[in-house]
Amino acid sequence: MPAEMPIVYFDHAATSWPKPPEVIDAVVHAMTEAGGNPGRGAHRLALAAARTIAGTRAAMASLLGVADDRDVILMSGCTAGLNLVLKGALRPGDRVVVSSVEHNAVVRPLAVLASDGVDVVVVRADAEGLVDPDEMSAVVHERPTRAVVCQHASNVTGAIQPVGDLADIAHERGAVLIVDGAQGAGHLPIDLGALGADAYACAGHKGLLGPQGIGVLYLAPDFEPAELMQGGSGGNSEEGRQPSERPDRYEAGTGNTPGAAGLGAGAQLLATRGPEIRAEERRLTRRLHEGLLEIPGLRVLGPPPGVERVPLVSVVHARLSSDEIAFALDRRWGIAVRAGLHCCPRAHETVGTLESGAVRFGLGLSLTDADVDLALSAMRTLCT
Ligand code: PMP
Repeated sequence: MPAEMPIVYFDHAATSWPKPPEVIDAVVHAMTEAGGNPGRGAHRLALAAARTIAGTRAAMASLLGVADDRDVILMSGCTAGLNLVLKGALRPGDRVVVSSVEHNAVVRPLAVLASDGVDVVVVRADAEGLVDPDEMSAVVHERPTRAVVCQHASNVTGAIQPVGDLADIAHERGAVLIVDGAQGAGHLPIDLGALGADAYACAGHKGLLGPQGIGVLYLAPDFEPAELMQGGSGGNSEEGRQPSERPDRYEAGTGNTPGAAGLGAGAQLLATRGPEIRAEERRLTRRLHEGLLEIPGLRVLGPPPGVERVPLVSVVHARLSSDEIAFALDRRWGIAVRAGLHCCPRAHETVGTLESGAVRFGLGLSLTDADVDLALSAMRTLCT
């Protein structure tokens, strides 16, 4: 790519970029003005760091509709949150029902748990990657089930899953619902007070517009998975055991204060501009989706236009490999996309693209109509 060619960033589903100036300023401010250790010390810099963490917890609670800030646990990411809740809640002999379109952040911890004697039952989603609540219900009701695990939205097809229905299904059977919210948070309006999820894990660096290395795990007040790590919490140092109160129980060790500052700024931005940002993402996604559908030889994954999806569109070409397309888009037009299996081979297997993988266009804050038109014209040139 010639050095002067600007980057046209369609990889927001992997990580959003560029970060809003508010987010970058907040990270720099945390490092320069609030660089103490949060909760460990009473000097100004430690107190400023503690306020930063508290501010982010409050901003995330408010954005996600969580009544008590203490139910918002700061983690290093969505993967960390999912590991905590899966490994902290499931024991040998437990049965867990999971969709066939889950990311490796769910699949791999469950594989470890399965080898320890957890019974993992997979329910197949349809060819658009959509989970059918009736099929989930039939399997959940068959035998006592400890947990239902499902993503909020697919990082491969963009399908939005019926997580509210899945919460009812899980609860009818006395199970908990664990949601992978990596592709939902920031891109969808979320009210965890109403949704019914017992755990909801988010990545801070995607739709929430924060930096990498920070995320959030919501735990419902009466859901108490075991903590995976023990260590310093900044308080009760004389106690030999991990504190049982939230969030300290789940936040052993010094956290990522600069990351949290950035995430808090992202959450505040979304609190004011979220509906406008989401409407624009939806509009651009539909424009891209409809344009891609008109290109001969392309299969567009996921639900048709008109059915709500998160802002990503994945395509497979009859002849060109996904890698070839992604390489050409980058080198010839400066368009950054993600090709391959997207850490989600199960979803690709479900929708019939395990061999080919797909080219994923992930949309977000930085993009314009002109960018979408450039992507469409590049795809037309490549594919016809
Ligand atoms: N689940 C889904 C659906 C995802 O798209 C991702 C990110 N690719 C993750 C989980 C993991 O997120 P992170 O890498 O930020 O932990």
